[in-house]
Amino acid sequence: MKITVVGTGYVGLVSGTCFAETGVIVTCVDIDNSKIEKLKKGIVPIYEPGLETMVRRNVEKERLFFTTSTEEGLEGAEVVFIAVGTPPDEDGSADLKHVIAAAREVGRYMTQYLVIATKSTVPVGTAKKVKAAVKEELAKRGVVIPFDVASNPEFLKEGAAIEDFLKPDRIIIGTESDEAERFMQKLYKPFLLNGHSIIFMDIPSAELTKYAANAMLATRISFMNDIANLCEIVGADVNMVQKGIGSDTRIGNKFIYPGAGYGGSCFPKDVKALIKTAKENSYNLEVLMAVESVNDKQKEIIFNKIYHHFNGDLKGKRIAIWGLSFKPNTDDMREAPSLVVISKLLKDGATVKAYDPVAMDEAKRKFGDKILYATDLYDAANDADALVLMTEWQEFRVINYKILAKILKSKVVFDGRNIYEATEMAEEGFTYYSIGRKVVRP
Ligand code: NAD
Repeated sequence: MKITVVGTGYVGLVSGTCFAETGVIVTCVDIDNSKIEKLKKGIVPIYEPGLETMVRRNVEKERLFFTTSTEEGLEGAEVVFIAVGTPPDEDGSADLKHVIAAAREVGRYMTQYLVIATKSTVPVGTAKKVKAAVKEELAKRGVVIPFDVASNPEFLKEGAAIEDFLKPDRIIIGTESDEAERFMQKLYKPFLLNGHSIIFMDIPSAELTKYAANAMLATRISFMNDIANLCEIVGADVNMVQKGIGSDTRIGNKFIYPGAGYGGSCFPKDVKALIKTAKENSYNLEVLMAVESVNDKQKEIIFNKIYHHFNGDLKGKRIAIWGLSFKPNTDDMREAPSLVVISKLLKDGATVKAYDPVAMDEAKRKFGDKILYATDLYDAANDADALVLMTEWQEFRVINYKILAKILKSKVVFDGRNIYEATEMAEEGFTYYSIGRKVVRP
């Protein structure tokens, strides 16, 4: 079987590589020439554990190809996935210009029956637009070639993308023809061997399922952050509350960890886009509007704590930041809470020295010479007036308090992910701020 993936970013590259792993011949297409050239040499432009080895293996076995030409990519393909970006438009809706451009390219070059499946996260109604765009291009060419559209939203998580793709909780496929369903069933069969489920449905339901899933997860995070803030006011400990409610099997313990707010390339934009879809249909998703507003405030919470600790005088203060990516195991800094905290610190005259295990290059692209870059976690903390933890990377979890106490100018820690034990921090002589828990002092 031959397939094409248009858009070779996180989703396109991981999906294409995982399909190739099952023996399918995959061509990944992208308009970014430098990305394609790197990939042809086996260099993976993103940080994703295990991906580079897998890409190289499949390139060597001649199951995985890269090109900037959609025409070349579509040769002999039976299914094409559109996996291009859908960034937020100015009004919060998903900007479909890349999806429609990719659909037009497919219409321009397809030569035989194709299933055109959208993997990008797209609002309800997009499959119809994709269909119209392809039809228009075929009409321009004066040819009639049958095709079907399908919606196949992707649920992988950056940092665990391969595992998620190979062992999905479920695969959602929206189709409107038996033929498209058969092709998708055949393609996904290798991923279903361990009882993982494939759920076929109508296209609008599939399109909405992706947004509803992300919106639900974002809701759990904002809910817990709201509770955390109340905990601080009433003197409760959110970690205890979280354990208490998480042990209820109806609630479960996933996505109820309080922190410095959610970020990344998906939750913020998908929550916005879903609110917009509802508005366009004269409906207000009131819960989600609150989820977004709680999150916007939460991203400022760590900065506010730092600001109050220093009585509003941050001029000349040196602040160490541990963790820049929006979550561990990725170099992705899109909408990361660290961006908000660092920008605010700089605006108030502080100096920032940051360390992240993998996102340093990304940070340099974002901040240039506005901040200092450390070689490791202790280098960042050296001579700092305070240490701020923004991302819960494993290597930050077990720290050497003795070294830290010696190198920090003042022993103050702001923990945006609640990874340290408050009592231990106090015993070691630190003033320790976290989320939804009392400030502890030595
Ligand atoms: P990305 O920005 O990493 O990659 C998109 C790629 O598409 C880029 O390489 C870009 O050059 C390419 N592109 C744009 N227009 C093109 C065109 N006309 N033809 C060929 N290539 C083109 O984006 P991503 O993170 O992979 O996300 C892609 C989609 O998947 C989005 O809709 C996103 O919401 C969704 N999604 C992302 C994740 C995630 O964790 N990143 C998870 C699930 C779903």
